[in-house]
Formats: sequence, structure tokens, C-alpha cells
Amino acid sequence: MTGPSSELTTARRVVIKIGSALVVEADTGLPARAWLAAFAADAARLRARGQQLLVVSSGAVALGRRRLGLKRKALTLPEKQAAAAAGQSLLMRAWEEAFEPHGQAVAQVLLTRDDTEVRRRWLNARATVDTLLDLNVVPVVNENDTVVTEEIRYGDNDRLAARVAQMIGADVLVLLSDIDGLYTADPRSNPAATRLERISEITPEIEAMAGGANAGAGVGTGGMATKLAAARIARAAGCATIITLGGRPNPLQAVEDGAPATVIEAGVSATAAYKSWIAGSLAPAGTLTVDAGAATALRGGKSLLAAGVTAVEGRFGKGDAVLVRGPDGELGRGLARYDAADAQKIAGLRSDAIEAVLGFTAGPLIHADDLALVGSPESR
Ligand code: GLU
Repeated sequence: MTGPSSELTTARRVVIKIGSALVVEADTGLPARAWLAAFAADAARLRARGQQLLVVSSGAVALGRRRLGLKRKALTLPEKQAAAAAGQSLLMRAWEEAFEPHGQAVAQVLLTRDDTEVRRRWLNARATVDTLLDLNVVPVVNENDTVVTEEIRYGDNDRLAARVAQMIGADVLVLLSDIDGLYTADPRSNPAATRLERISEITPEIEAMAGGANAGAGVGTGGMATKLAAARIARAAGCATIITLGGRPNPLQAVEDGAPATVIEAGVSATAAYKSWIAGSLAPAGTLTVDAGAATALRGGKSLLAAGVTAVEGRFGKGDAVLVRGPDGELGRGLARYDAADAQKIAGLRSDAIEAVLGFTAGPLIHADDLALVGSPESR
């Protein structure tokens, strides 16, 4: 199957971005309860199939505006931030109510750009969101508008959603929009515009289509240009993007049934993208030397346990990239789960002895997921 449905039905992790125009009723400024209820039923179907879902939801500012009686069209930045503070809790209440009939727990996750760009914070945020997903929760993510300043904003939730998709290794990012895909020109002004079904590479021609007359297509913060920017981030992280109409009651079902959409294919697999990032773009801050037994285990896809480590060099923090060296030379690079001082203390120890020494345990020294081995196709 090459329609958009194959990406959606086979994905293990799905990120769905939902704009304010869908979540908040334009005329009343209240949550769009009927749409949210229908969407939750649609989403519950994917959950029942065993798929993990994360929702990136806008709407805080729009809901807070009404609550605070801020009627002027252009709000000052502090007013917007105040509106977001008041609206975010209303937004979560609406999501709670929507998923409640399905017995589906949700959880609020508010991020700032640093949470996906500063590695240590990224690892923390990833661990929390991973845990929520494994506990069968649907995380509802938004930008932490109340505290972010202009310089540290994602700016739009399309990009936020793409960064989150990258962070959790999602297989597909669904951008629910007010337009059913990417067009060769703005379809509202150019009747000859055609929708692109499937994009396997983001060429300069495609950039031009999204950046020209089409850039402003769509209400909300993000037009086509930001959607394509999001798709580019997702693609590089091994995640496909589906742009489709969100206004219908069951947009996910509609995609599976072949409704119009544009699919931007994933460039590489999510794991390969992540591992090549570890292998290539991080300067190692230290070296862990391991024994022959550990070297064999790592080559077999296992995590690096403290027990197999014979020497720790360098000054690295938790989450920094380190070189892993075996008896025959470099084995690969990985992200350390302990800082250098703690790694020193636990080198050579069995896993069940770590807590007594450090007062906590963070599992293996390097998890297999965070290890890029030399010579593996993923590390190139
Ligand atoms: N974070 C904003 C809100 O919740 C929306 C930003 C966007 O939609 O791009 O109101």
C-alpha cells in the first residue's frame, strides 16, 4: 500500500498536531467539545490497535483570552502569556473530558525549545515522555508559552510537534490542518493548483511551492512554509509526515480510508537517524574502556553495564557522548547515563551494587538505544 494509510496504520508511535482552530470554537472561544470527543474516539481506535499516541495541542492562548476577557485582537506579549496560563488548564480539562469516556489517561507536558535542543534536558524530557507512553498515557504537549521569551520560542506548534516526533523516535507525524495537503500553488487563488500526493524528497521546487504564494495558506501561526519546515525536521529524524484536513470529525479514520492528504516520506529509519546523530555530530567528552566480554555483548546489541567497564577517562556529564573502546580498539560512541565521577565509582560493579554506592541507579552506563557501533550501517 502506498497511500497515506500505510504510514499511519503501521506506525508504532504517532504524533498528531492539532491547531487552535480545531480545538477552540471561533464564535464562542470555548473548547470545541464535539470535535474533541470525535477525535478522542478516533484516537482511541489507534490506541486499541497498540499504537502509542502523543498529541501536540494548541489552544491555550485562544481559550485564555476569553477567560480573561481580553478582547483586543493584538495582545501584548505579557497578555498572551497570561492568556496561555489561564487557557492551558482549560485546554487540559477539555482533553481530559474528551478521552475520559475511553478510559484513556492524558498528561500535560509543557516544553520550551531548550528541552529539545540542550542535550541533557532533551534526555530528561525524552525519558519522561517515554515513561508516559509506556504507561499507556496520551501525552498532550504544548509550548510553555507562559514562561518562554521570544528568543527561546519554537514559535509555532508545527515545529514543536516535529521536534517532539524526533525526540520520541515517532514513525509518523500527522499535521491536522485547514488544507488537505501541500499544493503546487494556493488552491484558493489558483484553480490549476494540484495537491501533491507523496513527496519522497524535499526538492527546491517543493520548497518554492510552500514558500511562495502558498506560504500563508492556513490560519493560525503556521502556514505551508512552517508545515514543510516541520516535515523536513521529521524526515531527517526518520519520521514520515502526513498533512491533511483536520476539520472533519474523524481525521485519522479519514486518512486510513484514503482521504486527500500529502505524505512526506521518512528519509531514513528513526533509529538510523538517531544513531548517526550520536556517531557523527557529537564530540566525545570522555572514553570508557571495556573488557572483551562487554565488547562481545555490545556487538550483540546489548547495553553497556558498569560491570564490563575497566577504565573511565575524561570529564563528561550525564547525557554526554563518550567513546567506547574495547581490547581491539574503538567500538563506538554512546550517551553516558552517569557523569564521569559516578562512572568512576561504579566501573566494574554489578548492576545490583550500584545503588549502594551512588544512592541511586540510572540503569546501564550506556543503553543500547543510545549506542552507535563502529561499522554498523546505522553509524554512517
Ligand atoms: N502554543 C500556542 C497555544 O497553545 C499555539 C501556537 C501554535 O499554534 O503554533 O495557544
